[in-house]
Amino acid sequence: MSERFELFIDNQFVAPSAARYFPTDNPAMGKPWAEVAAAGTDDIDRAVRSAHRAFKAPGWAAMTASDRGVLLNRLADLVARDAEALAVAEVRDNGKLLAEMKGQMAYMPRWFRYYAGLADKVEGAVLPSDKKNMVSMTRLEPLGVVAAIVPWNSPLLLTSWKLAPALAAGNTVVIKPSEYTSTSIAHFARLVVEAGFPQGVVNVVTGTGAETGAALVSHPLVRAVAFTGGEAAGIAIAETAARRLIPVTLELGGKSANVVFADADLDRAAKGVVGGIFAATGQTCVAGSRLLVHQSVKDELTSRIIDLARTARMGDPMSLDTHVGPVTTRPQLDKIMAHIDRARAEGAECLLGGKRGTVPGHEDGWFVEPTIFDGVASASRLAREEVFGPVLAIMPFDEEEEAVEIANSTDYGLAAGLWTRDLNRAHRISQALEAGSVWVNTYRTSAPMAPFGGYKRSGLGREGGQDAIRQFLQAKSIWIDLNDEAPPPFVMRL
Ligand code: NAD
Repeated sequence: MSERFELFIDNQFVAPSAARYFPTDNPAMGKPWAEVAAAGTDDIDRAVRSAHRAFKAPGWAAMTASDRGVLLNRLADLVARDAEALAVAEVRDNGKLLAEMKGQMAYMPRWFRYYAGLADKVEGAVLPSDKKNMVSMTRLEPLGVVAAIVPWNSPLLLTSWKLAPALAAGNTVVIKPSEYTSTSIAHFARLVVEAGFPQGVVNVVTGTGAETGAALVSHPLVRAVAFTGGEAAGIAIAETAARRLIPVTLELGGKSANVVFADADLDRAAKGVVGGIFAATGQTCVAGSRLLVHQSVKDELTSRIIDLARTARMGDPMSLDTHVGPVTTRPQLDKIMAHIDRARAEGAECLLGGKRGTVPGHEDGWFVEPTIFDGVASASRLAREEVFGPVLAIMPFDEEEEAVEIANSTDYGLAAGLWTRDLNRAHRISQALEAGSVWVNTYRTSAPMAPFGGYKRSGLGREGGQDAIRQFLQAKSIWIDLNDEAPPPFVMRL
């Protein structure tokens, strides 16, 4: 292993105090390619104290909101300049398609620009107080050190969703990437320095969730946690945060449905369904892993989906011709294959795929064929649990109410797709679906100005839009007494 990735504290790359490192794998080869620093409690303490110092120091604390916006815009420019290299760094470690990551990195600057613009539009208010000769006003102030904990599927983009609003609001941040994809953040950290952020405003600690992540959330100087990941980790973090009385945002998993009505443009719906589940090898929190289709068009739509899915080229994620790459981690590969075996055992009919994929030159890579199951019972685990892989479960419906009931029947509520040409139905069903994002005649789109997050067990709080910056601020009420005479001391002013 030739490359080694260190911690990033006080704008410098530093070795972990216990000199421990762990390997990180290239999913397309199924082999380790670099090693990454394992941050212990001493290192977490060093990083959080650095962020805390920066939060108090005039270099950041006294910077105007407009100047924070200038820095964020500069960071956006640098990300745009290095988008190609950042995309390659992501693919090497997480195995997602270069084509997808190039798109993500080219679009990512927009999050920084959106929050750069919002930084100096965070306004308090002068309140119409009912007290005579008293000015009552509010200020929205930052919280302090924010821990940003990120999963492996879109490491830099999901970091940016937390970092940009947290910094725009005036907080400082300690980032903890996934232990499976800890390397691309090193290039990004160099851009933070180049943009001119003061020391300690952005820090990175790497390591496992159980050790590094848990220690970060427990640190007494961490004032808020922004988390994206799985439910178990989300609950563990929320429990620690509850004991510490600090706010958390949780972006968790999903079992999102694409609901296709008989009047839909089936060609368009087929493309949306295939893209929704097989793009990114199904490794997106919003993967459209359930297809709810009206009985009258089920056979027609299913055959179009199968034809389209068959055209997907599986291969090296670095090749721009590839449509389906490997899954990111070995445990994830095992989990997907276990779901496929269980679905068969539960009586579902496998219409496509259902096996590990083989790619010449990548014999040990973690590939799974695009897989489609029909006859999936709504009580089965495939219909209810997140697979986080390229596995689609088809379930028919007859009536509109039934479609809504099945769509809402999981514990999750992250996203849903709706395919119809009927405007009334589009409005009616988008309101009835229990999901944080509903896409009509499209799927898997997002933008910095749109709030994103989950209903039910898909999460707490929102990323994106003005909702996100508000979650990194706290309101302070300030009262100024203009009366010349002081009031009697033993009577409370009401
Ligand atoms: P994960 O929960 O295992 O890990 C996510 C991050 O949390 C990692 O950095 C990990 O090290 C850390 N972590 C784990 N346990 C921790 C603990 N006890 N304390 C502190 N940190 C801890 O999730 P994953 O496997 O990396 O990601 C896949 C999951 O993420 C899926 O369930 C997916 O749906 C979800 N996800 C959600 C969204 C969203 O926006 N809703 C986006 C992408 C992924």
